[in-house]
Amino acid sequence: MGQSTRWLAWINGRQEEPTTGAFFTVEEPATGQPLAEVAECGLEDVHRAVGVAREAFESGVWANQSATSRGKVLLRLAQEIRDNVEQLAEWETRQVGKPIRDARGEVLTAADCFEFYAGAANKLYGHTIPVSATGFDYTIRMPVGVVALIVPWNFPFLITAWKVAPALAAGNSILIKPASYTPLTALLLGPLAAAAGIPDGVLNVVPGPGRTVGEAMVAHPGVDKVAFTGETRTGSRVLELAAPNITRVSLELGGKSPTIVFQGVDVDRVAFLAVQSAYANSGQDCCARSRILVQREIHNEFVESVVKHVSALKLGDPLDPDTEMGPLISQSHRDRVATYVAQGQKEGAELVLDPNAKSLPQKGFYLSPAVFSGVQSDMTVVREEIFGPVTTVQAFDSEEQAIRLANDTKYGLSGSVFARDIGQALRVVNQVRAGVMSVNSIKSVHLEAPFGGFKQSGMGRELGMEALEMYTELKNVFVSTD
Ligand code: NDP
Repeated sequence: MGQSTRWLAWINGRQEEPTTGAFFTVEEPATGQPLAEVAECGLEDVHRAVGVAREAFESGVWANQSATSRGKVLLRLAQEIRDNVEQLAEWETRQVGKPIRDARGEVLTAADCFEFYAGAANKLYGHTIPVSATGFDYTIRMPVGVVALIVPWNFPFLITAWKVAPALAAGNSILIKPASYTPLTALLLGPLAAAAGIPDGVLNVVPGPGRTVGEAMVAHPGVDKVAFTGETRTGSRVLELAAPNITRVSLELGGKSPTIVFQGVDVDRVAFLAVQSAYANSGQDCCARSRILVQREIHNEFVESVVKHVSALKLGDPLDPDTEMGPLISQSHRDRVATYVAQGQKEGAELVLDPNAKSLPQKGFYLSPAVFSGVQSDMTVVREEIFGPVTTVQAFDSEEQAIRLANDTKYGLSGSVFARDIGQALRVVNQVRAGVMSVNSIKSVHLEAPFGGFKQSGMGRELGMEALEMYTELKNVFVSTD
């Protein structure tokens, strides 16, 4: 999987120059230096990719293969990914700035994801329905058609796999629009898919700006469905653009998720987990539990423990196997997060861990982690998704207040409840308006279980068997026996 510094689009089973003739530069967050030049596709490329995907779909070359046969191809693709794990992980680390051990784990989980949907492809069952008319009524699930998959930069390869694997298992043809900060590993998927036996035109990767390439895909009448992951604001724009053609849309959007901690737990262990959840991937995680809510009796002890564990995080070169936290994705995002920290201080939050106190690598988009306590619910740092290594710790006095604070957000993606009393934990879990909750754990994502948000965190569910519903249309058939 050698790669030159010029990366082309992947259309109709081969690398293609962009019709625009233009290339954009991907920077390496750890150094701030150029990493690759990538085809900056334009409207003509989108149109062409939609055309070949449509042709591949209509020809039945993939959709009409038996589900078992599609599953076998996906298993081969999983193996291709496993065989190339080191190269994929290194490119992922270099383009995102995430620690290499995390990148390796994500690439292997992407392979697991293809294996899950390889097995799921022929388990897409319908129902038989006892209708009143004389006859036999049944449902079948059909592929939607041509599906555009729009992916963010924080988990580029893994989120691509979350979408590609179920979309292909269901028999669709796809277009992948990777994020412009991180298009490289999605582009590497093209040749791997071809080697595994995905027919030409079924999987296409079209890099380029969201404002042109992304919008053109969403608005294209040849696209039947859009599966989008990204910011809530962009999700809203996607809905607007999809409306005229009634294009199906699923959205995985932002979050501002809570960790809720009741007294009686092992404070140091839970603080360690809360830190893992909030600062992994430098906090650039839609499920990051960036609001920690703690029962007042243990608040001070908890804050101390959080600061201890955050201070111990090893920040540095993401290619170093010992590094636990790398840089942020870009200089502008780093500056944006630093502005939030300044805003928190201005609004009166107590900065118990100051990111400016630590020395940082000379190059790259690094920012030390920050912790706020003494926050109020109306403060900007409590309300907005910062998407960086910043958390707030807030005290509560009762179970009711904990639930109220947890729900006091426009988002509803995930959350954790830590409690010794399992009855209390389950009462709280039931009342928190979020799609993915965990009890005495920070784990949000299981390939086998549905994942998605309430409220402005999105609509539709990825992963699990539920994802297959998003990539299929339900057909009902009545057969008269009169
Ligand atoms: P963006 O919304 O900026 O971008 C996401 C993708 O959409 C990129 O490929 C981007 O392309 C593209 N895009 C941008 N503008 C448009 C447009 N007008 N029409 C169509 N496509 C467009 O999000 P980020 O990449 O900044 O990702 C971070 C966000 O993603 C956070 O809010 C995070 O919470 C959310 N997220 C949600 C997850 C979930 O499962 N709920 C999981 C992971 C992240 P380009 O890069 O070229 O701009």
